[in-house]
Amino acid sequence: MEFRLSFNVRSMQSRQLMRRAKFFFLLMGLLFASDLLKAQSKPNSVRVIMIGAHPDDCDLKGGGTAALFASLGYAVKFVSVTNGDAGHQTQGGGALAKRRFAEAKEAGKRFNVEYDVLDNHDGELLPTLNVRLQIIRKIREWNADIVIAPRPNDYHPDHRYTGVLVQDAAYMVAVPNVAPDVPPLKKNPVFLYFQDFFQRPNPFRPDIAIDITSVFEQKVHALDAHESQVYEWLPWIGGTLDKVPSNRDDRKKWLAETRTVRITPEVRKTLEKWYGNERAARVKHAEAFEICEYGIQPAEADIQRLFPMLVSR
Ligand SMILES: [Zn+2]
Repeated sequence: MEFRLSFNVRSMQSRQLMRRAKFFFLLMGLLFASDLLKAQSKPNSVRVIMIGAHPDDCDLKGGGTAALFASLGYAVKFVSVTNGDAGHQTQGGGALAKRRFAEAKEAGKRFNVEYDVLDNHDGELLPTLNVRLQIIRKIREWNADIVIAPRPNDYHPDHRYTGVLVQDAAYMVAVPNVAPDVPPLKKNPVFLYFQDFFQRPNPFRPDIAIDITSVFEQKVHALDAHESQVYEWLPWIGGTLDKVPSNRDDRKKWLAETRTVRITPEVRKTLEKWYGNERAARVKHAEAFEICEYGIQPAEADIQRLFPMLVSR
C-alpha cells in the first residue's frame, strides 16, 4: 500500500513535471520564433561594433551616432577592452571594475546598445596576441559591417593600443586559420576611427560627420550613467572636481556643457558635404569618423547606405 501510494504520488509529480516541461518548451519555441521574426523583419539591418579602451570611451566618442543607428534598427554593440579598474582616485581593483560594469550596462540601456566589457586591467593594456584574438572573436561574433575604434596616436596608452589591436584585427577577421573556434567573416567590414585632436604624426581627417544634435540629450543622459567617471574621476584628474554641482539636475546640465565637443572647421566642411550648407550651419553637436585604410574602402554610395541619416546635397 505504501508502495502504491508513493508510486501514485510519484506518477502525479511526473505528470506535473511533464506538463511544466511541455509549457517550458512551448515558451522557448515562441521566444525563439519571435527572435527569428525580429531578425527577419530587419533583413538589411547593419551591424555596428564600437571598440574603446575603457567603459565610457565609445559612449563619449560615438554615443550620439550609436543612438541614431539604434533608432534605425541597427544592431549596435560597445566593447570596452579593459575593465576600467584603475580609473578612480580613491577606488580601484575588482570593486571599481564591478561598479564600472554596472555603469556601462546602464549606459548601454540608455543608448539602446549592447555593452561588453573585457576583463583586461585598465592602464596596463598591451597589444598582445591574446587580446588581439579576443577582439577578432568579438568582431566576428557580432558579424560586424562597421567597426569603430580609436586611432593609434593618443595621449593614453590604453587608447593607443586599442587602436593598434583593432588595426591588427582588421585583416585577420577574415582569415579562417586565426581563432578557428569562431567562423571568419565572409567580407571584411568598414573600419573607422573615432575623432581626436592629436596632430602628430598626422591630424584626424573627418571623412564622415554625423549631426547628433537630435540625440545629444540622450547622449548626455547615457553619459550620466558613468557616475564614477564623469562626476568623480575625470573632474578629479582634470582639476575641476570643485566645479561639479551636487544637485542631480545641475550636474547633468554641467555635464552637457563640459561634454560639448568643439566642431572644427574641417568637421563643419564635412557636414556641409553630406548634409548641404543650410543644415550643416544648424548643427550644434557632431561626431566625426575617419576611414581606416585596412578594411573595405567604402565608396560614397556605400557610406550613404551604411549611414542613412546622412542627407546628401
Ligand atoms: Zn578612455
